[in-house]
Amino acid sequence: MATLEKKLQDIKDAGTYRVLPINEGPCDALITLNGKQVINLSSNNYLGFANHPRLKKAAKDAIDHYGVGAGAVRTIVGNMDIHEQLDAAIAHFKHEEAALVFQSGFACNAGVIQAITDEKDLIISDELNHASIIDGVRLSKASRAVYKHADMADLERVLKEKRKDFEEVLIITDGVFSMDGDIAKLPDIVRLAKEYRCMTYVDDAHGSGVLGSHGRGTVDHFGLHGQVDFVIGTLSKAIGVVGGYVCCSKTARDYLLHRGRPLLFSTSLLPAAAAACIEALHMLEESSEYTDKLWDNARFFKKKLVEKGFDIGHSETPITPIMVGDEAKTMAFSKELLKRGVFVSGIVFPTVPKGKGRIRCMVSALHDHAMLQKAVDIIYATAKDMGIVA
Ligand SMILES: *Cc1c(COP(=O)(O)O)cnc(C)c1O
Repeated sequence: MATLEKKLQDIKDAGTYRVLPINEGPCDALITLNGKQVINLSSNNYLGFANHPRLKKAAKDAIDHYGVGAGAVRTIVGNMDIHEQLDAAIAHFKHEEAALVFQSGFACNAGVIQAITDEKDLIISDELNHASIIDGVRLSKASRAVYKHADMADLERVLKEKRKDFEEVLIITDGVFSMDGDIAKLPDIVRLAKEYRCMTYVDDAHGSGVLGSHGRGTVDHFGLHGQVDFVIGTLSKAIGVVGGYVCCSKTARDYLLHRGRPLLFSTSLLPAAAAACIEALHMLEESSEYTDKLWDNARFFKKKLVEKGFDIGHSETPITPIMVGDEAKTMAFSKELLKRGVFVSGIVFPTVPKGKGRIRCMVSALHDHAMLQKAVDIIYATAKDMGIVA
């Protein structure tokens, strides 16, 4: 405990210690955080599905029919018809051959990457890939290489140097990068993968439900259906519930049912969660009103921030960072914003590199322009007082 106390003290000395805020109600545009109503600019609930009446009804009906727990791992007796229906609904929505649901996006990366690679293989990863990809790669016996963020020349350099020494090569990238909001250069990655005979793996946690027609994701955005071997997504962000999935060939799905360890050793998704996700996918197929509203809000918010002179990096999606730099200043900015009525979390090392601290604003379909304008006004006034903008 003395060691942990010292490590905690180091975090405090760095100004990055935090006390978790407590949300007393549903995840909405306005939330009651620590007893105070604030504008919520920090959730991944892009489309407002987390508290949507249609999803809640589907979940309640599923509880009445299936109970609350699945009772076993998927490979024993925890594979309910509703899980199979969810797999099929995802494959249909994403225009992919097959899909397989895991308990979370994190579990999906932890399970799939190690299952599809072994010691004779190489994994090549973008340097800004999500932590769950990094951990998934650590669980694999394959060799590893990293290329500079979104740098296709650097990816090709790695391929030229190393491709010949390995049997299979897997190129992994986020579809939308979660801390910067930029989109992977997927057409180039797919082209290089073909040229050098590699498999491709896209984690589209922040692209699914956001990009492409009706939110079908980054692969759809670039018209690359059928050309990415493994398309990962989460059901906890735009879909608003919980769970993760991989879209792949029927063969790969069959193999993962035998070697995807989280499916073999951890109980399957709650049936109520599966039911709510199926309802969400139906809603996305029926209409683009939710994704349209999300993008309208995102464009409005970003335009207002740029007009005020903020550096929002190279975001191309509703994820909108406001660059600050210094870690302690970033955390102080976020804390002061909360006091003034806007909740936007500070993101610092180790989530982003040292010296690249930022607050990360997440716009959703639940906001309206008046609310976003108010948030921009508060952010600007606070930033001015703290010397973050001129
Ligand atoms: C959020 C996220 C995950 C984890 O998804 P969960 O379903 O919350 O476990 C995985 N990959 C990326 C890129 C993410 O942004």
